Amino acid sequence: MRLSILLLALAAVASAASPIPILLLDGEQGGPYHAWQETTPFLKKMLDQTGLFAVDVLTAPPKGANFSTFDPQFSKYKAVVLNYDAPDDRWPDRIKTAFEKYVAAGGGVVIFHAADNAFPNWKAYNLMIGIGGWRGRTEKDGPYWFYRVGKVEADPSPGRAGSHGARLPFKVTNRVTNHPITKGLPTEWMHAGDELYAQMRGPGANMTVLSTAYSDPANKGTGRDEPVLMTLTYEKGKIFHTILGHDRAALNSVGFIATFQRGTEWAATGKVTQKVPKDFPGATQFTTRPDFVVAK
Ligand code: ZN
Repeated sequence: MRLSILLLALAAVASAASPIPILLLDGEQGGPYHAWQETTPFLKKMLDQTGLFAVDVLTAPPKGANFSTFDPQFSKYKAVVLNYDAPDDRWPDRIKTAFEKYVAAGGGVVIFHAADNAFPNWKAYNLMIGIGGWRGRTEKDGPYWFYRVGKVEADPSPGRAGSHGARLPFKVTNRVTNHPITKGLPTEWMHAGDELYAQMRGPGANMTVLSTAYSDPANKGTGRDEPVLMTLTYEKGKIFHTILGHDRAALNSVGFIATFQRGTEWAATGKVTQKVPKDFPGATQFTTRPDFVVAK
């Protein structure tokens, strides 16, 4: 009797303490911006603070390096968070195939900010991200996707993909409020100064636009409600895509932190068990966690 109670207690402790394995993959980005060396410690700390995850960080080799020993063990993880942007030919086919198989079999993916710039001609990757920008994307890669009068719309007009104005605060509107990621959040919430991506194009298949923000023409915007948070599926895999998070200032925003934490749990498990934080912003003023700064 005593032994069985002890075993039950041990089993309960084991299940409560059993963390969700996450791979945070960073490395090469497009230019002097998107310093993954600075943002990865923030992202890791956010995931660690939930108490839900065990996060491994893996840095891809830089441009020009030998990729022959780079062999991410995707299948060991429930979700892969990509703080990574690189051109099509950077990853050998061996790694691309392994990633496709991992997601198709049910692996989770989190597309963080400029990860939706990466790999413009990798077909499966663009199906996973739904929409992307820059790196030569045009109408050949899919229509512009945006939100108008209560629904998602596609515009096949020719033109470039990807733009943004100055990093000003903006209001995010949740368009789907019963998804695990958005459930319980204020429908409208302010985000700290950040790039609001616009003119994003892509296949947009199996994509749910959870949240949008108005791209203001007064700040080089489109005058459209642009996708900000999305979920997608790729075969059995679940993808959470956030366009937010250009730099450390943006990552201090509680709206970013909470949706990134929730989106990662959903991509990994299909559920969100986290409570909405008390400092989650409302419609008029963004909130930050200045203590979130990670010592170098
Ligand atoms: Zn950026």
